[in-house]
Amino acid sequence: MEKYDYQRPKGTADILPGDIEVWQKLEGVVRDLFPKYGYRGIRTPMFEDYNVFARNVGDTSDIVEKQMYDFDDKGGRRIALRPEGTAGTVRAYVQNKLFGPEFPKPYKVYYMGPMFRYERPQSGRQRQFNQIGCEALNSESPQIDVEVIAMALQFFKELGVNNLKLVINSLGDNETRTAYRTALIDYLKPFYDQLSEDSKTRLYKNPLRVLDSKDENDQKIVANAPSILDSLSDYSRNYFEQVKRLLDELGIKYEIDSDMVRGLDYYTQTIFEIMSDAEVFGGSYVTVCGGGRYDGLISQLGGPEEGGIGFGMGVERLLLLLRDENPNFVPKSGTDVFFASADTDGDDLAFKLLDKLRQQNIAADKDYQGIKIGSQIKEAVRNDAKYYIVLGKREAESGVCELVKVETKETQSVNIDDFIKAPMKFLK
Ligand code: ATP
Ligand code: MG
Repeated sequence: MEKYDYQRPKGTADILPGDIEVWQKLEGVVRDLFPKYGYRGIRTPMFEDYNVFARNVGDTSDIVEKQMYDFDDKGGRRIALRPEGTAGTVRAYVQNKLFGPEFPKPYKVYYMGPMFRYERPQSGRQRQFNQIGCEALNSESPQIDVEVIAMALQFFKELGVNNLKLVINSLGDNETRTAYRTALIDYLKPFYDQLSEDSKTRLYKNPLRVLDSKDENDQKIVANAPSILDSLSDYSRNYFEQVKRLLDELGIKYEIDSDMVRGLDYYTQTIFEIMSDAEVFGGSYVTVCGGGRYDGLISQLGGPEEGGIGFGMGVERLLLLLRDENPNFVPKSGTDVFFASADTDGDDLAFKLLDKLRQQNIAADKDYQGIKIGSQIKEAVRNDAKYYIVLGKREAESGVCELVKVETKETQSVNIDDFIKAPMKFLK
């Protein structure tokens, strides 16, 4: 193999033509669907003040403890590439005072774009990856929670991905957390020596993190831990009951997993994951969409005491799933008509016709290599062209050419002027 001097950084990908079509179609589904639920696009910076994430995503989360791409810029500011979308979106919401009376409530936004986490690259796990996400800010209603979940599920439905399960849990409000923290620490203390190093340091800082540990032994210990659902305050219990009732009303099936806590510290009340056990994921359930409520986050970033909820989904993982579950999703990108030329007269004519067709919004292309006609036609087929036309001195002089349909090899004689005047009449 040839050795090139420059390689893309570890954990990044080049998304090339041939792959980009699926990305763009997927993004198109988001742009069509999310506004129907009242969400509008937002684009926030790809880097923020380090503390936007460190103080708000949580200093005991894997993301902040281990995965941040942070550095000092030339002005000595501590900067981080965004590891997730919520904190920056809430920062923008607060800084632009989008909570003011002139703005819609809830304030609903969605985004798509790259996120950065320093982790060990593997299938579906990169250092620069892409997320599609949404946030409903200034919202604290079980209806909004269920609407967000319904939108995510509808999105998967439109992609043709159906084998999914929805898992929900409640992390409760502050009162719940205080009660549960004590119960959890009491339970875990006797196992202290057996816990992983990460869990030892997290036990007193944020014992919920221990529930989320990926260490096998931690998981065994945690299996018998008290359930957070037994510590729910009256408000949180009632809230969760309503969420479940509304899911039932919409006919949305779900499982409850009281051990699920999710990886970010800002979550409160309703949290959820949409999971798939598709073959590409090796038979075990993998999360393809995760989200939840964050009722303290807006005020923590300097805004009013308001609730919010959102989700994020990894596009790379989604594409793996899509390839497995609905390979037909891949769009056929194609040239409508391709010109092959037999000589320089034909080539000159092709060049001019090409421009006229493109001005009429027709996807047209020609050969630029001056290769044999047979090879040019092969090139047309490789381009997924629907039709091709061979042009030469004869066609240039007579003003008549043969339009060939690639799929059926059907041929028709067409007057070139007529064709250029109304190409869609011929390109069916
Ligand atoms: P995991 O447990 O798999 O590390 P997470 O809890 O860190 O996931 P979230 O922070 O909830 O994930 O992010 C939401 C989604 O973003 C994930 O479900 C996944 O699809 C995607 N994602 C997270 N990290 C990466 C990564 N390094 N590369 C690709 N996709 C990722
Ligand atoms: Mg992770």
